[in-house]
Amino acid sequence: MIHAITFDAVGTLIVPHPGVGEVYAEVAAAYGVDCPVAVVARRFPAAFAAARAAWRTPYGADEDDARRFWARVVKDTFPVPLPARAVDAIYLAFAQPGRWRVLPGVRAALAVVVARDLPCAVVSNFDCRLEPLLAGLGLGPFTTVITSAEVGRAKPDPELLFTAARHLCVQPRQILHVGDSPAEDGVMAAAAGAHFQLVPSGEGIEAAKLFHLLCEARP
Ligand SMILES: [Mg+2]
Repeated sequence: MIHAITFDAVGTLIVPHPGVGEVYAEVAAAYGVDCPVAVVARRFPAAFAAARAAWRTPYGADEDDARRFWARVVKDTFPVPLPARAVDAIYLAFAQPGRWRVLPGVRAALAVVVARDLPCAVVSNFDCRLEPLLAGLGLGPFTTVITSAEVGRAKPDPELLFTAARHLCVQPRQILHVGDSPAEDGVMAAAAGAHFQLVPSGEGIEAAKLFHLLCEARP
């Protein structure tokens, strides 16, 4: 029986727009650092993976640590030194709705959740930028938005889903978590004893499939 639903954010509901490489390169250029989009886009995955591996709590254990985490990713993404103001500006750029795109089917999927009167939350390895960002994109309503920086743990640590369950007033086993990462979302859901639905990363959600899933789980 599913009594509540939680969604991952990045890759599941939203993706950077037009892309990480484009935004990094554009903002850096405004601070006098010209670096081709292709170079930035190629270097980002390794910079991100290195910071993720090096950090005690990936994505940051609190808001200050989240800023340090992303500053490290940004600096390592560029092959040349970046002014501190540019590093800050890139962090802040991703607080802007215009730098993100809502994936196909997401609004329809959220409408399915609302129609079935299910409490709903976002559970994301993110920070204080996320909640106003989702509101700015017109996504919701969400009972709560749980981030790793707020909880002090990152997915796949199940504490994020336990926190969501408390806010949603349900047991973790009554939650369906929808996410694009088997390693972060899938492992977290399994560790918390929740249901899990994997969605293809960056491709959106099939609202009809979600509807059938919820019908089966809650006749
Ligand atoms: Mg994701």
